Formats: sequence, C-alpha cells, structure tokens
Amino acid sequence: MSRYWSDIVQHLTPYVPGEQPPLVNPVKLNANENPYPPSPRVVEAIRRELGDSGETLRLYPDSTARKLRETVAAHHGISADQVFVGNGSDEVLAHAFQALLKHDTPILFPDITYSFYPTYARLYDVAYQTVPVDEAFAIRVDDYLGPNGGVLIANPNAPTGRALPLSEIERLVAGNPESVVVVDEAYVDFGAQSAVSLIAKYANLLIVQTVSKARSLAGMRVGLAFGDATLIDALNRVKDSFNSYPLDRLAQAAAQAAYEDDAWFRASCAKVIASRERLSAGLAELGFGVVPSATNFVLATHPAHDAGQLATRLREREIFVRHFKLPRIDAYLRITVGTDAQCDALLDALRTYVG
Ligand code: PMP
Repeated sequence: MSRYWSDIVQHLTPYVPGEQPPLVNPVKLNANENPYPPSPRVVEAIRRELGDSGETLRLYPDSTARKLRETVAAHHGISADQVFVGNGSDEVLAHAFQALLKHDTPILFPDITYSFYPTYARLYDVAYQTVPVDEAFAIRVDDYLGPNGGVLIANPNAPTGRALPLSEIERLVAGNPESVVVVDEAYVDFGAQSAVSLIAKYANLLIVQTVSKARSLAGMRVGLAFGDATLIDALNRVKDSFNSYPLDRLAQAAAQAAYEDDAWFRASCAKVIASRERLSAGLAELGFGVVPSATNFVLATHPAHDAGQLATRLREREIFVRHFKLPRIDAYLRITVGTDAQCDALLDALRTYVG
C-alpha cells in the first residue's frame, strides 16, 4: 500500500559519493582527494586550537567565522562581506540552490557535470534544464544566453576536467544580467583561471570554492563562496535558518592556516599538475584517449576495453577509480591524480589488461 510519504522518499535520489574503502592502504584514485597531506601549519593550528585539554571545545565556534573570512578575503583582494563559508562546498551549493536560483523558471547546467546539481535541483524543487556539452566535452557559453532562472557551471567542469577561459566566463555572466550565475571552482587551482576578479564588476556572479582539493582538507569540510555582498547576505539568511554554526572550531582554524601558507599551496598544486601530465602521457601510451584536464583528475577511455570492467578489475587489486554509468561518459574512467607511485601502480595494473 502506497502512502504519501513513502512516495516522497522514493523520489529523493541522493548523490552517491566515491567509495571510501575500509582498507589499510588502497590506491585510492576515486574521489579527487589530494594525495598529499595539508600544510604543517594546518596541523599546528588544529593543535593550538585544541590546546592540551580540549578546553575550547566546550564553547560554540564563531558563527560568522570572521577571522577565516578576513584571511580569505585578504588572499583574494576582496572584502570579508563578499565571503561566505559553509560545511564543504556541497553545503554552500545547497544554500545557493535555496537562496539564489529561481524555482519556477528552469535553471541551466551542463548535461555532463557534477551530479550533485540535479540532485539538489530535485531535492529543492528547482526546475532545471540540462544543456549538452559539445563533442569534445566543452561548455558552449552561447547555449546559456537565453531566458533562465539561473546558470550553474563548474569551471573546470567535473568529471570532464575541461576549463573555460576567463573571457568566456565573463561573457556568460555579462550575458545573464537578470540571473545569478554560479561558477563552481572546486578544481580551479590545478590550471584554470579563477573568476574572483569579476565579482567587483558583476553583482550576479557567485563563485564557489573549496579547501578539499588543492589545500588537501577534504576531511575538514570547508567550502566558500565569493560574490557581491547582497548575494552573500542571501546565503547567510539561509545558513542561519538551517544551522547558524556551519563550521566547527577546528575547521575554522585549519582552513585559516591553509590560506596563510601560500608557498605550500603553490608547491602542492605544481606537484599534482606535474603528476597529471605524467599520468596522462602514461595512459596515452597504453592506447587510452585522455580528455585534456585542468583539474586533479583525468577522464580516459580505451577503444578496445569496457570501462566498467576495467574499473572492476582494478578494484580487485585494491586500486579504486570512478566509472559513471551515465550517457556519453560510460566508456570513460575518471582517475584522480595520485602520487607518482600510485599512478605507476595504476598504469602497471592497466598494462596487464590492455597492454
Ligand atoms: N564541486 C565539484 C565540481 C566537486 O567535484 C566537488 C567534490 N566532489 C564539490 C563541489 C564538493 O566539494 P566539497 O564539498 O568537499 O567542498
């Protein structure tokens, strides 16, 4: 017998994150985590915040994360009232769906993109329309210039790894003066151009970033948004109605320290980028077609081997990559850039199947 609430539950299609295998030392290339630990200054900051006795944990954190926002604002040359922080960029995106995207006029996002976007749209009853990326998986800005209830793109996009130049992002924002344009820059530090400089010029641009990828802090759950103070105010209103303490004390201290250690951040990004190029070359040598990537992952396909089967066989060797059973990309594996040793383990295993 169907009850109205069981129908509601059936309609909730949750996002399925990359597997976190309970193994001691898997070659984990399935969740776009950074293979290197965060800056030592982050670890020191967490210890300092905790103290010997954990005394501070008794107290609620700063609900406005003022110091963190000021540090990030200084880093980007913007003001603290143009910065929003939340519990991972997933939560920041959820608040953007609730606060800034119209519910009745369809919002636009690419057909191949971060699968949280359709999940949130359905969850929050936001009407949406997907826009096909081209044959090379590139986003075509012209396809987003008609009437819409908002635009959401990831730049670089996931899981394709393809990036648009800043001039194209500007064309997208300028061409949608009546809507909010959300640009998810989760992977921007691995070789794309950030659009943060545009927020001074365009009040309809919201940029979402994270410390999970380039700053190696996926475990702390800190995401950020940058935009005109009015957009940030809208996000704060939703946040305060949802949970006025989105970031715990340790997360605030850790993220702040991560932004204070620019040298570590730059060196870590450079290492990942070098390993990405090495991995892409290794895959190409094995006969894979590799989509050019501006991220810490690559999308690769082999003309003679089924991607799902390859993923399964790698898994048997405790090497984890991602295979999406989705239209247009089901022939591809999405492989996170690991350490060179992890990438070599992957290439060695693949060589035994396809070589
Ligand atoms: N945006 C994109 C495009 C992503 O791939 C991810 C990570 N899976 C996120 C946002 C969310 O990252 P986080 O919640 O860790 O900040």
